[in-house]
Amino acid sequence: MKRIFSFIWILLVFATLTQAKEIRLSYELSLSHPENHIFGVNVMIRNNSQKFLELTMPAWTPGTYELQDHARNMFQFTALNEKGDTLSTSRMDFDTWKITASGSKNITITYKVLGLYPDAAACYLGADRAYVNGAAVFMYVEGRKNLPATLKVVHLPDDWQIATGLTSLPEPNQFAAKNYDELIDSPLLMGKLKWFSFKVAGIPHYLAIWNLADSNMPVKRVLHNFQNFVRQVYQMFGELDYTKYVFLIQLYDNFDGLEHRNSCTLSYYPDKFNDPASYDDFTWVGFHEYFHNFNVKRIRPNILGPFNYKRPAYTKRLWICEGLTDYFPDILFQRDGFWTKKRLYRQLSEELTLFQTLPARKWMSLESSSIQFWHLSDNKLNLEISYYNKGELVGWMLDLELLHRTNGEHNLADVMRYLYRKYYKHGIGFSEKLGIQRDVEAVAGSSFQSFFDNYVRGTTDIPYSKFLGFAGLKLVAREDTMPYTGIQTFKSKSISRVYDTKRELKNSQDSIKNVIMGSPAWQAGVSKGDVILAVDNQTVTDGNWVAIIRKKSIGSTAAFLLRRGTRVLTKKVPLIKSPFKKYGVLEDPTATPAQIRLRNLWLNGKKVHLK
Ligand SMILES: [Zn+2]
Repeated sequence: MKRIFSFIWILLVFATLTQAKEIRLSYELSLSHPENHIFGVNVMIRNNSQKFLELTMPAWTPGTYELQDHARNMFQFTALNEKGDTLSTSRMDFDTWKITASGSKNITITYKVLGLYPDAAACYLGADRAYVNGAAVFMYVEGRKNLPATLKVVHLPDDWQIATGLTSLPEPNQFAAKNYDELIDSPLLMGKLKWFSFKVAGIPHYLAIWNLADSNMPVKRVLHNFQNFVRQVYQMFGELDYTKYVFLIQLYDNFDGLEHRNSCTLSYYPDKFNDPASYDDFTWVGFHEYFHNFNVKRIRPNILGPFNYKRPAYTKRLWICEGLTDYFPDILFQRDGFWTKKRLYRQLSEELTLFQTLPARKWMSLESSSIQFWHLSDNKLNLEISYYNKGELVGWMLDLELLHRTNGEHNLADVMRYLYRKYYKHGIGFSEKLGIQRDVEAVAGSSFQSFFDNYVRGTTDIPYSKFLGFAGLKLVAREDTMPYTGIQTFKSKSISRVYDTKRELKNSQDSIKNVIMGSPAWQAGVSKGDVILAVDNQTVTDGNWVAIIRKKSIGSTAAFLLRRGTRVLTKKVPLIKSPFKKYGVLEDPTATPAQIRLRNLWLNGKKVHLK
């Protein structure tokens, strides 16, 4: 007993001594130049014993899966020792600077960052507010990402507040992070904010909203809906593994969101909340980002954390991280009454209809699509599928297959709980190499080899009717009666959501965003980017080319007058019967009691023990 005690004591002393020698890191963020949109950053390194130090700016923001090369917006990198002497520095590559420490124990690195865009993955400083995604602002010390760090915000205007998931220190505007990953996974929204909160499982959830006064956001309703979906996820996993959660909401002319470990950022148009479809969009994205708190921030492939911020983290598993994070909010919205069953069926059938129009579904698998996302092609709709879109569909079919095989004993939520316990609770991610097939099989007690071979690794057509039949659901296909050209100008919201064309939605409805490969317009030589001026000598405005075509008959030809750059040209497009169908999901009136039982289990889920 004594010996054990002494041994522990020696260990403790040793740990304290090593800690004393360890580098201490603190960051200071200055908002002194809002008019120029320039952040000042100091990184203070204490107790340095290294001859050289390397500092790197991340090349990407976790959650975005695309290279942003944040170093492009930083400038005036310098390093000073404790006496104020400038140390020698050199840029090693695009993201990394090297400092010759020359025996200096205490070093202060300073640099500036231009912050022009309050997008979720970027940073912005203006007279109205500041938004910081840490990946775009804070450099890390190579080899020291695991060290704790503090952050102090200076020159914060008196009437501004700071919203962040970081732990507050007793001193004003100061925060602590366990390590670099946590520091940059905790964005900051600063400005005149309106605060609201609710509790689920006794844990506070805050909404910090910028620009509420200029919006028509119905705050009470938003709070009610957000609380409901947090409660749904709590009931699904049985616990909430954080001490606070913050929704950082900016109301301005943008629509995006990004997940973080105990917070998320949401942006939405301030004046659109009265429109039911827009309210739906906002709430849905809020739920999607919140669900990520479990799926991707906690349940994740092992390649997604700890991160390599210099290189793309290629993974075949984004269909799990994103596709299933699209699927569960749909199901849970229905479960808590925010959506009717009919609305859920419509959502899922719209995803299905969209997927069936994509030429690339014949050659690009879900796994391949996950890898592709880092370097998107110049025409996503013709050359790619989306792991959001097919991932949601495969999640849906997997859920039904699991219920069917286990006679209602297990579903996809059981798989999520299994992954949560098996991996997250042991501090690891699931295998990038193996994915989750073995885990699905462990839950189901049978092989899913052919399911994954066909629909995850392969491009076999999904036999939707077979899976839907398990739950007494029917897939109905309606012929599209509108003459088909293959021209797409994007009015559809679901295309916008899945294929990230939201910015293009704001553009003219007359400029062609895609011509479906192999379609009549494709064969006639109509191009993406052409602007439709007239159809059959009728002037086109605000997307009314669709109405003109709708009045024409199948078998006829339409003359499209197009502007391509400075040229004007005419293309004659034969109008044919659409090769695509519009799908709907209905409850089969002839369903057996066993099928109806599975349907109810699918819709209602099952009760989980709550902590
Ligand atoms: Zn997402």
